[in-house]
Amino acid sequence: MVTRYDVRLLHKKEVAEHTLEFTLEKPQGFEYRAGQFGDIVLPASTGLDESHNKHGFSFASAPFEDTLRMATLMRPSKFKQAAAQVPDGTVVGLLALWAASRCTRTPTSPRCSSPAASASLPCAASSRRPRTSRRATTSR
Ligand SMILES: Cc1cc2nc3c(=O)[nH]c(=O)nc-3n(C[C@H](O)[C@H](O)[C@H](O)COP(=O)(O)OP(=O)(O)OC[C@H]3O[C@@H](n4cnc5c(N)ncnc54)[C@H](O)[C@@H]3O)c2cc1C
Repeated sequence: MVTRYDVRLLHKKEVAEHTLEFTLEKPQGFEYRAGQFGDIVLPASTGLDESHNKHGFSFASAPFEDTLRMATLMRPSKFKQAAAQVPDGTVVGLLALWAASRCTRTPTSPRCSSPAASASLPCAASSRRPRTSRRATTSR
């Protein structure tokens, strides 16, 4: 189920060239798993209309951390230009959690599907190499 939370943007930090990380308050009791994502909804004060004020980002933070972090390459899009200007402490919307990714791994399609993203995401589990059996070999 997707819930809208109002959370404070705690701070922004450049973590790589042209790449900003946004740290958000974590709502009380909010739980997620690695690989899940939410939509950041910028406030009306940015002047953006509903077709430009929302973008989905994966959580770059670990589920056990006290804050939420999301990172993105800054491009000259309306959303990102506005996001870069939003002052620390501003309350933004967080739409989460979208339906959990379901692993639909098959021998020919090792992908996870995410209905909300209408895209298939790489399945971490499937990208791991199968364990090789370590049978003891006897030399003659
Ligand atoms: C499930 C999910 C998780 C996501 N997680 C992240 C995340 O963790 N970090 C992140 O940065 N983004 C993430 N995205 C993508 C994010 O929502 C934005 O769409 C993306 O960052 C581009 O936003 P924009 O404002 O730069 O461009 P937009 O205004 O959204 O796009 C403008 C146009 O530019 C095109 N475009 C955008 N990026 C590129 C590119 N690199 N090269 C060529 N054309 C491009 C688009 O196709 C579109 O036509 C995620 C999306 C989904 C669905």
